[in-house]
Amino acid sequence: MELKDIGDQFKDSYLIYNRRSTDDAENQRNSLVYQRQRNIDYAEREKLPLAKNLTIAGFCTNGVIDESHSAFKQEVELIITPEGSIQHKILRPKFLTLISLLQARKIKGVIFLCMDRASRNDQDLNVVTKLGDMGCDVRFVDASYEKNSSGKLHRRMDGVFAAHFSEVISEKVKNAQKKLRGERRCIYAAPVGYLDKGSNNKPLDPERAPIVKRIFELYATGNWSIRQLGKWARDQGLTKKPCRRKRTKEEIANNVDVASIPKIARPVDHKTIEYMLPNPFYIGKIKIGKNYEDSIAHQALIDRSLFFTVQDTLKKKRVSVYYIDKDFHTYREIAHCTCGRAYSPYIQKGIIYYRCRCKEGCDNGDQNLNESEITAAIQTILNKVHFTEEEKAEIERDAKGELAKISEHRDKTLDDLHAKQRTILADIDYIVQNKITLLRTGSMDAEGIMQEQRRLEDKLALVNKDITVYAESAPEMLKYVLTFSELVRDAGLHFEHALDNEKREIATLAFTELVFKDRQLVSYEAQDGFKALLQRKADTDSKKSEHTWDNLSQNQPPGSSGRTRTYNQLLTLRPNVTKGSGLYHHPRGVLRYLVSTAPPRL
Ligand SMILES: [Zn+2]
Repeated sequence: MELKDIGDQFKDSYLIYNRRSTDDAENQRNSLVYQRQRNIDYAEREKLPLAKNLTIAGFCTNGVIDESHSAFKQEVELIITPEGSIQHKILRPKFLTLISLLQARKIKGVIFLCMDRASRNDQDLNVVTKLGDMGCDVRFVDASYEKNSSGKLHRRMDGVFAAHFSEVISEKVKNAQKKLRGERRCIYAAPVGYLDKGSNNKPLDPERAPIVKRIFELYATGNWSIRQLGKWARDQGLTKKPCRRKRTKEEIANNVDVASIPKIARPVDHKTIEYMLPNPFYIGKIKIGKNYEDSIAHQALIDRSLFFTVQDTLKKKRVSVYYIDKDFHTYREIAHCTCGRAYSPYIQKGIIYYRCRCKEGCDNGDQNLNESEITAAIQTILNKVHFTEEEKAEIERDAKGELAKISEHRDKTLDDLHAKQRTILADIDYIVQNKITLLRTGSMDAEGIMQEQRRLEDKLALVNKDITVYAESAPEMLKYVLTFSELVRDAGLHFEHALDNEKREIATLAFTELVFKDRQLVSYEAQDGFKALLQRKADTDSKKSEHTWDNLSQNQPPGSSGRTRTYNQLLTLRPNVTKGSGLYHHPRGVLRYLVSTAPPRL
């Protein structure tokens, strides 16, 4: 039957209303089975006819309404209409249907176990009272209210206690959560790679954690886009944590138990990776309010340096070198039109072409490109990305001359860092030794001391990291610089003889974007190191008009290129270098250094 089909056949019958709060598990009176039995017994005893033939999907079964809801969510909305009536929202949908049936006199009355099953707040109490005043027969198994002023008072009192009870539960839930947060426990579900064994125990997931770690490592190389990494992870068999789907509206109305829905582990996608990479949970932090704090519930999966490399990588625009799902094409996603759309590869008669589906109004006269045309354009640039013998000699001589100054600067910086380290250590000692005095005199509370100690320890970790970095000697670094200078000399040669996949690696290493229009390279954006080198060309060769290619670079020279050589610039050279040799593994920062040390031309 549907709600609108109820005629007058139940106008002398009663409904039973049972309510269960999902936040109040222990209370026996909260159980639907218990309430139902007591209410049916009462109807028999009082000889009240039940609407046993009334079954409406999502509302009631054989005259019995079962409603579940969370007391944690309190209804606070108050609406005042222009006509001057005040409305409040009833969050229990079945209760709402019930009172509308009573009001329309489709049924005679309703049986509740007691007041707190009918009313949760002052507004509900008002509605129940009004229905009684209107002549609806509202019955309570555990209490009978006389139809006089003292009966009304009695009912109001019960209503007040019901509202209070509901508020107490809501408060309990909130306080429990606050307490757990205060203990730096994790009260939410841990991300992929961890298991949930309670708010103080989130162990590593032996199946997923290794893949998650690998995802961070791969992304840090800068050769992967998030989308492709998502596909890679799926190929590895990585799935999200098993979880239940949300119950449908019908299932909620029919009180389908959440636990009866099976948990399913869905495959990951690029969104999973997008949420994963910036999440400090992986370095052992949990979210408390708006901040991240050290967790007592879990250990770090990713070490800090890898995590921060990933954060830097996330900020940069990049082109994926690896494609999981598409055929390999050397310049996929690298070449763009002036309108911003990418050129996509296609093959015709064995020749690879790229075509751009331009935006409307784009003035690109020829939307096709031959792969060899792109290769030629890149080759032209790379051939010129190297120093002449004369330049190189000057760089070497100059850099060697600067070595003493660099070393001096390094030593001073190291001294400063060590002094800093000593101060912080002393501060930590002071706090540890004077904890009790600080507490007793009230100058700091326990939470404050803990926070201060954590802050100092974080600071110390940063200083220690800097010290390790600066410990590398200046001559070692210069060696990298010179080696890289050699390698870059041959960049064009490497490219010319490279295989297709190597071509792609070199192209993505040197450029983030190549813009073609009318089959001509019209501008490009270079990666940091190459950018610097190309800008150097722009600086030094500005008088020679035949070097028009360098004007294509979208990157403006960095103001007056003063000969600022700092140890910090040398530091940018060091990552990755030990991991292997060859152009692909060398740091882009080397070039930046080379540029800054190049002697100015007259
Ligand atoms: Zn276009």
